[in-house]
Amino acid sequence: MLIGIDLGTTNSLAACFRNGKPELIPNRLGGYMTPSVVSVDEEGTVLIGETAREYGLVNPLRMARFFKRDMGTEKEFTLGDRKLRPEELSGLILRSLKEDAEQYLGEPCNEAIISVPAYFNDFQRKATKKAGELAGLQVLRIINEPTAAAIAYGVGSSDKDERCLVFDLGGGTFDVSILEFYKSIMEVHTIAGDNFLGGEDFTALLADRFLEKNAIAPESLDIRTRNRVLKAAEACKCSYSHTDSPVMSCIIDGEPVESRMPLSEFEKACEPLLERVRKPIERSLRDAGLKLDEIDRIVLVGGATRLPTVRRFVSKLFHIIPNLAVDPDTAVAMGAAIQCGMKLRDKEIREMVLTDVCPFTLGTEVTMDNGLFEEDGHYLPIIDRNTVIPVSRTQTVYTARDGQTRVNVKILQGESRNAKNNLLLGELSVPVLPGPKGSQAVEITYTYDINSLLECQVKVLSTGVVRTVIVQDGTGRLTEEEAKARFEELAYLKQNPRDDEENRLLLLRGERLYEEVIGGDREVINRALMDFERLLSQQDRTQIERGRKTLAKILDQIEMNL
Ligand code: AMP
Repeated sequence: MLIGIDLGTTNSLAACFRNGKPELIPNRLGGYMTPSVVSVDEEGTVLIGETAREYGLVNPLRMARFFKRDMGTEKEFTLGDRKLRPEELSGLILRSLKEDAEQYLGEPCNEAIISVPAYFNDFQRKATKKAGELAGLQVLRIINEPTAAAIAYGVGSSDKDERCLVFDLGGGTFDVSILEFYKSIMEVHTIAGDNFLGGEDFTALLADRFLEKNAIAPESLDIRTRNRVLKAAEACKCSYSHTDSPVMSCIIDGEPVESRMPLSEFEKACEPLLERVRKPIERSLRDAGLKLDEIDRIVLVGGATRLPTVRRFVSKLFHIIPNLAVDPDTAVAMGAAIQCGMKLRDKEIREMVLTDVCPFTLGTEVTMDNGLFEEDGHYLPIIDRNTVIPVSRTQTVYTARDGQTRVNVKILQGESRNAKNNLLLGELSVPVLPGPKGSQAVEITYTYDINSLLECQVKVLSTGVVRTVIVQDGTGRLTEEEAKARFEELAYLKQNPRDDEENRLLLLRGERLYEEVIGGDREVINRALMDFERLLSQQDRTQIERGRKTLAKILDQIEMNL
């Protein structure tokens, strides 16, 4: 069975296409969202999702999250005595989603379509594919998240051509994409964003206001109290969906502290954040050569678009009421599932062709005459960002010094005019005939294909010498054998058993709460945990079920009073 996966920074989801429609796949705990969190406990058992997050609250040094941000890099995360790379951590998340899908669907799931941010570069896409392989999934396609979201909202399901702006405001990132659906072709036009803007900024703002109102200095709080304030702020923020004047409350230094946080006040405080939201929108429109009123539809993705302030801002800016028919948290997974339907040529679905853009400018380093002397280190763009791929572009450069015998071409990716600030993807060197500077011309051709493989060809015009290089995966310094060995090692990593997941999660929650409270509450938790552990050791399913409900109720009660 082919499954669609939204491998997110904070949460991941799986979905499939059956009976003519997309369908979300529940995880082992019955929810649809699996936190993209991995922990490794003292015994070396791997925990995934909610359980890993709960474990990590008490053992932060054994937990990894937000590793999607480092996909395609050499970074390693240390979890206790294990070191894992971003694609390996993602692989463990994918493996857990695959198992849940197999359990739910009752058949093997060995193929997947996985979504990635549209701005993901070649390395990041390849790392995502590798993560799939580590999970035992053959990745049939990598789909851009905004494209998936637009498909879920029905863009492309009728004959209507339209331009749509996908507004994706998650917990920590903001992405804007402009897509055009024209004659069965869905094209990503432009991408812009802010990697350091998201729902958490709105939460932090509320937390700061709450402390200010109560004349509490943020520096005076320890990390646990600060986290509690943030948690209360998050709850208050989410309540704006149904109330205009919530009361935010939190225990600080053992005392309850409360404040009313009117929406109007919050909106005023949000203005600088909304200004930051506006910037990438303007940039994407500018890059696409479009005006605000040329956008036909707005697609909202990401939990933070539930905030009424954000929705109002979008409506006002575009004079369009955003379509709210699709859940912003599940849109990408649903779109990936519809893609599965297209791939399987399901008769309920219209085929469409998806195209990608090259998310970053690709260029090379050159010497330029600044009027006084020849200055090294200038960036010469060859393929501009947001060019639709496949694409091939050529630039001619000339020798910079008298008697020069070689031309060295640096393959760079990035937007800075200063070459050294851009990412070096590869290098290529060709011999030229010595002569006065400027006498030898060299043609540099970059070709970027649909699989995001970049080929660089350098041709010396005087001699006809040609050199070509295909820019390879930057993630793996691993050889083929090393990668295979790593795969096998990961495959045998001990994982928390599925059946035990709920119990393990509840015990972890109890242990965390035990650390957070004092006095009588500690005794209550301790007793309840001991009772439950005894039941677990007796292995009577009905008793365990009953015990789980009792323990959950006790913990809920205590957590409510925190
Ligand atoms: P995502 O990364 O898409 O899962 O989005 C997570 C962000 O969405 C977090 O900052 C949440 O606080 C925020 N969020 C979720 N639900 C709501 C809601 N009802 N109102 C406001 N923000 C929300």
